[in-house]
Amino acid sequence: MFRKLDEIKVLRDPVHGYIHVELQVIWDLINSSWFQRLRRIRQLGGAYMVYHCAEHSRFSHSLGVYEIVRRIVTEIGDIEKALNEQEKVTVMAAALLHDIGHGPYSHALESVTGVSHEVFTCRIIEENTEITRILENCSEGLAKDTADIIRHRSANPLLYQLISSQLDADRMDYLLRDAYFTGTKYGEFDLERILRTLRVEDGRLLVVKGSGVYAVENYIMARYHMYWQVYYHPTARSYEYILHALFRRIRDISSGEDDLLPLFRPLVNKKKISLDDYFKLDENSVSFGFEKLTEHPDPVIRDLSLRVRDRKLFAYADSSPGGNRKIRNRLRNEGYDLKYYFGRDTVAQNPYIPYNGDHNEAIWVRMSDGSIRELSNASNIVYSLIHGPAHDDNKVFFPEDK
Ligand code: CA
Repeated sequence: MFRKLDEIKVLRDPVHGYIHVELQVIWDLINSSWFQRLRRIRQLGGAYMVYHCAEHSRFSHSLGVYEIVRRIVTEIGDIEKALNEQEKVTVMAAALLHDIGHGPYSHALESVTGVSHEVFTCRIIEENTEITRILENCSEGLAKDTADIIRHRSANPLLYQLISSQLDADRMDYLLRDAYFTGTKYGEFDLERILRTLRVEDGRLLVVKGSGVYAVENYIMARYHMYWQVYYHPTARSYEYILHALFRRIRDISSGEDDLLPLFRPLVNKKKISLDDYFKLDENSVSFGFEKLTEHPDPVIRDLSLRVRDRKLFAYADSSPGGNRKIRNRLRNEGYDLKYYFGRDTVAQNPYIPYNGDHNEAIWVRMSDGSIRELSNASNIVYSLIHGPAHDDNKVFFPEDK
C-alpha cells in the first residue's frame, strides 16, 4: 500500500483553488530539487514579453496537471473503478513530472541542443536521479512505469490519454492557467463540466458523455483562440527568434572554452549533455549568462543579448517573396549578417485532429443511445472548424529600419 501523509497538504492555487497532496511519494517529488527547479522556468516562452503578467512557472502548471489527474482518478466513478491503486499513483506521478525535462526558454534551447524536453523528462525520471530514487523507494518499477506513461507505452492506454491526448489534463491546466495569467478570457472553459462527463469505455478508452459535448466544444475553441492570440503572437515569436539566433551564434563562433561561462559550454561542445549540467540551466542562471554576454567580444552576441535583456525585439512582416527581398537587401546594405538577423517562421494549428487510425489520439463521445462517435461527428462546431480553410501564419523577423 502507498504511504499517506499524516495530514493532507493543501497548496493554494488561483486556477484550482487548492492542490491536494495525500501521498508521501507525491510530497517527496514536489520537495525534490529537480521539481523545485521548475520554479525557475517560465511556462510561456515569449508570451510574457506581450502579456506582462504571464510570468507563471512550470512548477505551478505541473502542480495543476497533477491536481486535475488526482481529481479524475479519485472523483470520477468510472475511472476510479477502471484503475487499480498502483495505476492511480503512477498516473499522478506522471502528471506531476510530465514537464520535468523542460529547460530554460524551452523551444529556443531545444532547437540548439537538438534534444526534446521529453527525452530529458524520461532521463530525469530513470537515470538514477533524486526523482528516480524517490519513485523506486516508494515502489520498485515505479520510475519505469511513470516514464512509460510519458512515452505512451503503458499497458493501459487510459493512463497516457489522461496526460497527453487531445482532451488531457495537461491542456486543460495550461489553457486555464495561461488564460488567467495573461488576462485573456477566451482561454476559459468549463473544466468542472468536462470532468463530470468523463467516462471509460471497455476499461481503456476515455470518452465524454453526449451531454458534455458543449463543454468540449468550448474547450476546443479556447485552445484555438489561445494559440492565435497568445502562443503564436508575432511579438512573442520575435523574442523567441532572437533567443534562437543568440543560442545559435554562441554555438557557431565559440570555442566553448574561456570566452563562455561554464554554464553555456555543454551547449557548445556537442556532446551528450549530462543531467548535472542540465540541472544548472534554468532561466535565472541563463539570464545571468546573457547579461555576461552583453560584454562579449563578438558584436553579434553583444547585440543579441542586449536585445533579449532590454526587449529590443525585431520587427515583423508577412512573408512574401518581393517583401522579403527588399528587407534582405536593406539589411545587407546596413551590414547585418542575415544568418542571425533575418528569421522566417510559419505557424499553423489544428484545434482538433480527427480520428486518423489511432483510437487513443481522438476524442470520443458516448451518445445517449450508447453508441460511440468521434467528436467531429458529434459536434457541428468542431466539424466546421476542421473542415474550414487551413489557418497558418508565415512571418519574417528582422531589425527595424535604422
Ligand atoms: Ca505541460
